[in-house]
Amino acid sequence: FTYRIPIEMNDLAATFLRVIVPFGPSKVLTGIIIAIHEKAPAEYEAKMLLEILDVHPVFFENQLTLIRWMAGYYMCTEGEVLNAALPSGLKLSSESQIQIHPEFDFEQNPELFSEKEWEILHRLRHESLSYAALTKACGIKNLHGILKSLRKKNAVILFEEIREKFQPKKEKRIRFARAFVSQKKLEQVFKEIDGKAKQEELLLEILKHLPVFQNPEINLAGISKALLTEAGHSASTLKTLIERGVLELFEAIVSRFPEVKSDPKAIPVLTDSQQEAQRKILSFFEQGKPVLLNGITGSGKTEIYISLIQKVFESGAQVLFLLPEIALTTQIVIRLRKVFGNELGIYHSKFSDNERVEVWNGVANGTIRLVIGVRSSVFLPFENLGLILIDEEHDGSYKQDRAPRYNARDSALMLARIHHAQIVLGSGTPSTDSYFHVKESHFGLVELTERYGGAQLPDIRLANVSEETKKKKIKGSFTSTMLNAIAETLDLNKQVILFQNRRGYAPCIECNDCGQTIQCHNCAVSLTYHQFRNALICHYCGYREQIPKTCPTCSSSALRTPGPGTEKLEEELKLYFPDVPVQRMDYDTTRTKTSHEKILNDFSSGKTKILVGTQMVTKGLDFDHVGLVGVFDADRMMYFPDFRSVERAFQMITQVSGRAGRRADKGLVLIQTRNPDNPLFEYISKHQVKSFLELQLEDRRENNYPPYSRAIEISFRDPDKKISYEASGLFAEQSKKAFPAIQILGPGEPGIGKIRNEFIHTVLFKIPRIHGNLQEVKMKMLRIAEIMRTDKRFKKLRIIFDVDPI
Ligand code: ADP
Ligand code: ZN
Ligand code: ZN
Repeated sequence: FTYRIPIEMNDLAATFLRVIVPFGPSKVLTGIIIAIHEKAPAEYEAKMLLEILDVHPVFFENQLTLIRWMAGYYMCTEGEVLNAALPSGLKLSSESQIQIHPEFDFEQNPELFSEKEWEILHRLRHESLSYAALTKACGIKNLHGILKSLRKKNAVILFEEIREKFQPKKEKRIRFARAFVSQKKLEQVFKEIDGKAKQEELLLEILKHLPVFQNPEINLAGISKALLTEAGHSASTLKTLIERGVLELFEAIVSRFPEVKSDPKAIPVLTDSQQEAQRKILSFFEQGKPVLLNGITGSGKTEIYISLIQKVFESGAQVLFLLPEIALTTQIVIRLRKVFGNELGIYHSKFSDNERVEVWNGVANGTIRLVIGVRSSVFLPFENLGLILIDEEHDGSYKQDRAPRYNARDSALMLARIHHAQIVLGSGTPSTDSYFHVKESHFGLVELTERYGGAQLPDIRLANVSEETKKKKIKGSFTSTMLNAIAETLDLNKQVILFQNRRGYAPCIECNDCGQTIQCHNCAVSLTYHQFRNALICHYCGYREQIPKTCPTCSSSALRTPGPGTEKLEEELKLYFPDVPVQRMDYDTTRTKTSHEKILNDFSSGKTKILVGTQMVTKGLDFDHVGLVGVFDADRMMYFPDFRSVERAFQMITQVSGRAGRRADKGLVLIQTRNPDNPLFEYISKHQVKSFLELQLEDRRENNYPPYSRAIEISFRDPDKKISYEASGLFAEQSKKAFPAIQILGPGEPGIGKIRNEFIHTVLFKIPRIHGNLQEVKMKMLRIAEIMRTDKRFKKLRIIFDVDPI
């Protein structure tokens, strides 16, 4: 959209500043200046922009390049990407306000309005009110309908009241008044207060912090008032000196993050094999190739990352270190903070808006040189990025499952290209996609095959669930093999980690008589039973209800909870090991910023003996005394109907195995399964990562799955099942005509065919890698969708493109 710059703002306007603009007949929005030009739009008259919010740009040209690439590649709008890119603290908060239309003289036309409308107009005669305030003032419950009618009559307008969200943290500070920043002046002060010990002490202390005789500049920063009072100086002494004009009180903007000094001793000395790996990485860098670093857990990938970061720091460039959300544990942060001190910024969704804006600004002005962050940190305003590290590159959470549906790993590869930066993708269990790029010589491969300090890989054994069921040796969710292994481990005073790839007490409540599960009203999925809240909750839409006494289908009272979840495991453990301290780590127990840390600390200090958890326990944890890792429900992971499920099962089981026996002695991994003959277990127990990947690639090639093809999934969502089916059918038919060389599947109904009251049908494109122009295919697809959207039947239809779905 194009806006005019008012004459008085001519000198202030520049690209990448935020502005406030009018939008449509009654709205006001935040925008960003992308370009300044002198071509007036032909089809409409440009409106004036209202305000310019920034003096310094909030982002840079390179970011715009990335945003544009992402919008094109992921088939969404630049606005959608920009919206995800900016931390919400940099966007404006707006509360809808209602006011009388300035050009409307309602007193002239009383017959146009109902009684209630009339009342509202009178309320608004002298002031604008927010929706909430107006509801309260008029005592009318359902304002919405009335307001809609008033807006139609052009009697009122809605506008968004604008408020900046970011609030810098301020601190009261003390410094010498300008006139006293000289030796002569201060000596005179000391003479005058001779004998007043308290004032003397205070001034001496301030001089210690602010040695103004050596450097008068230093006075400007001042010293925290709280620090002085904590040191025992009374507020009244301070006040006296301020009143005399010697000292002054001022407010300074300070960092929200505690000051940390870097410690050069924390820098690791690389082992021979780590050095060799580093040498190889650097030589691939010279060839301009991204590097896949495949190092088994405990091999010291983090140490290599640290030494690479240091090398880049010497050149003055910035570094981005990406981690999956749940791997951003305090352990790795503490380790990096020790080395890099305050030059490290953390970008995490659990941080407040204000904290995130601070990191954003720190990156923009160059005070933060290393960012360790989640997916969205690819959007940070780097000006001089030298290196990107992506740890756990195989992790599915790099892909965002709402718009814009981008993959941060793949976007980071583009980001590196834009900045001419180096990039390392690290993992103990690389993705099939990245391994494919190694085979195609796009990536260099560097391997670390031994654990640091000669730590041994754990033994991997299976507990046969079918056999034990036959022999009636199962107790609840536990095979007797598992229970014995836990008991033996505890006897040796070692710790246990139990991994269950699902949260909630049990996945659902099932009727023993008719076999039905209790379903969500809005989504085609079973509700999950949460014992802690004593409720059934939908993991898709959040719908919750009480547990019914009888089956809604057949009225039987024989309801039960099949299959174990983390909460159920925890519960059962209390029964079998009543005196053993157990903790659970999953989405539900780690809602707050510190809960995660606390659970880990308790385990690390030995306070907890058994840790039960979901994927969270597979990531980045490093404990000394874990003797046993138990894996539950491996079958469900392997047989999930999706071409990536085997790869995912391999990754998860291998990752969690890495938690066993990291240091001195060999640990044990015990996997409960009904399919002990599945070859997957052979690869896992022999730690044959590469042969497993080769086999996966073979399988993908045969079935023309990614990475041998590029997948795009289009889903059609509508409250009416028939409409979503018709729309997907129409789209499939037209696409098949338009793209005869492309394999197009569908319409299909996904595993979960209904979410939040919308029915879903999908069409899947498998575009050959060698296909000439991918972007052209995408444009044509968008065009087909656009034409469909003009059809009246499809008024409520949502068409969602998912490029490289996972
Ligand atoms: P990875 O990330 O590959 O799983 P880590 O980097 O976490 O492995 O290393 C595993 C353990 O070995 C950590 O406790 C780490 O401190 C230690 N370690 C690895 N390499 C070194 C080294 N060169 N010097 C000192 N300790 C090391
Ligand atoms: Zn029933
Ligand atoms: Zn639901």
